[in-house]
Amino acid sequence: MYQCKCCNGSLVQELIDLGQQPFANKYPSEKQKKNEMIMNLSILICENCFTAFTKTIAPRDIMFEEYFYLSSVNKELVNHFNELAKSIPSGSNLLDIGSNDGILLKPLMKRNVDALGIDPSENVGKIANDKGLKTIIGFFDEKNTNEIIKQYGRFDYVVASSIFTHVEDSEKFVENVKKILRDDGTFILEIEYIKNLLSNIEFERFYFDRPYYFSIKGIMSLFEKVGMYVNKIEEISPHGGSLRFYIQNKKSIKNPHEKLLNDENIFFENIFKSNFKEKVLREANNFKKFLTNNKNQGKKIVGFGCPARFSTITNFINIDKNLISLVIDDSPLKQKKFSPGMHIPIMKRETLLEIKPDIIIVFAYEYFESIYEFTKQFSAKHYKPIPLSLLERKYE
Ligand SMILES: [Zn+2]
Repeated sequence: MYQCKCCNGSLVQELIDLGQQPFANKYPSEKQKKNEMIMNLSILICENCFTAFTKTIAPRDIMFEEYFYLSSVNKELVNHFNELAKSIPSGSNLLDIGSNDGILLKPLMKRNVDALGIDPSENVGKIANDKGLKTIIGFFDEKNTNEIIKQYGRFDYVVASSIFTHVEDSEKFVENVKKILRDDGTFILEIEYIKNLLSNIEFERFYFDRPYYFSIKGIMSLFEKVGMYVNKIEEISPHGGSLRFYIQNKKSIKNPHEKLLNDENIFFENIFKSNFKEKVLREANNFKKFLTNNKNQGKKIVGFGCPARFSTITNFINIDKNLISLVIDDSPLKQKKFSPGMHIPIMKRETLLEIKPDIIIVFAYEYFESIYEFTKQFSAKHYKPIPLSLLERKYE
């Protein structure tokens, strides 16, 4: 029997078993291909607070020592953080947890905000530090929290964007946030919303890096345990529909988020009644059949964008380079390496000039507009993999 770490309830059921999966953000070189760690990825969900989590937690230190995800490669994310930076008053101080390559620190520095980052990935943190964006390399754990308070004091703002899902011990994390934030400070938390993930059947967003997938009810109960309150929620666009929570030590609204919570309740009642697993299998089979049929007709199929979800999809459905011959990614850290598990070669976009693909599967579909600016020169059709759909439709 499993216990939910958000609400401590025991009404936990399996949402989906995604089979044997590698670490979705570890891109092996030719040499490393033989030594990948593979584990079973099963996702459980709490029927009380709707938080989902992985049944097994993969070792965090191995996962994050070398990381390939650079936020600043994505123009849309750069814009997102520029906008967020504008809302932080100059003269204040801010801690960005999981600051990656300094995507938020950079615009804050220009605004005269005293900004500090902390990130566990040595290679990524170094990129930030080399640009003069102050970044501590390490996990946001108790030891580093105390160390930071000693050296920098407490903060007016603490930000954690798209990283809370990666944290192994969310209760401990919340306690550390409480400790490092000033009494009148604001914690800005951005998470991908489990409701959006499930309603779009985006099973590909489940992978070992992320042991938790949060609901509004789950976040509220987690913070209330330490006497912190969600005073505002905004819907934001990154990562296929996310939420931004403003969390403070004082409760400033009476009946918080009644409508959102009510919608959430109704949605999950339906999820528990329907068969999510079956829906996922149907979409997965549909995608594989499409690839096989086109391959048999001699079509050249490539992928565009090799984010972590590429790994979940290809390993779950068993898609190798016979079906998708290569995948394009703009991150120089991934190029000339291979996709996790299925070992599909990763190339820079210029490779397509020689290949002239017939079909492009856009795995980084939220960036389709900027991808299309480049790929429209080929007479290829563009598809979102799950649920399989033609992307050009947007432009017709
Ligand atoms: Zn729960």
